[in-house]
Amino acid sequence: MIEVFETNTPEETEEVGRKLAEESTPGQVFTLIGDLGVGKTVFTQGFATGLNIDEAICSPTFTIVQEYDTGRLPFYHFDVYRIGDVEEMDEIGYEDYVYGDGVCLIEWANLIQEILPEHYIQITIEKNLEKGFDYRKITIEHI
Ligand code: ADP
Ligand code: MG
Repeated sequence: MIEVFETNTPEETEEVGRKLAEESTPGQVFTLIGDLGVGKTVFTQGFATGLNIDEAICSPTFTIVQEYDTGRLPFYHFDVYRIGDVEEMDEIGYEDYVYGDGVCLIEWANLIQEILPEHYIQITIEKNLEKGFDYRKITIEHI
């Protein structure tokens, strides 16, 4: 199943994230792929709001994972941009998060493709400058 959303403001992108999180269930893994500045953090902020987390989301670029326990479900936000080797994921307890009862969202998941679970929900955000500077295409695919 593939769904496509087109947005023209950060608020609309947050809204797509919020709705997806509202429907999320324990153990689901979401991957988030897109270039720098495309809106991954904006999307994640909306996603957290959809889990009733009212904290600001910061990208865990140096810590790899940030946990939020105040929402409807535990939320594990990963940013794997800086990992050198997938073995570093073992060291932070990756399997416990991914096969646990919370919801994982993994930015730059394409860098750890070989250790992704069998099923996950892949979110891709892309620009298209022909459609305007603030246009984003968000593709959601169940893998
Ligand atoms: P990333 O985390 O992918 O590097 P950010 O979410 O930090 O990107 O930044 C996205 C930037 O693009 C923000 O400054 C945001 O205001 C801007 N922006 C403009 N239009 C949109 C849109 N339609 N959706 C999301 N962000 C947008
Ligand atoms: Mg970011």
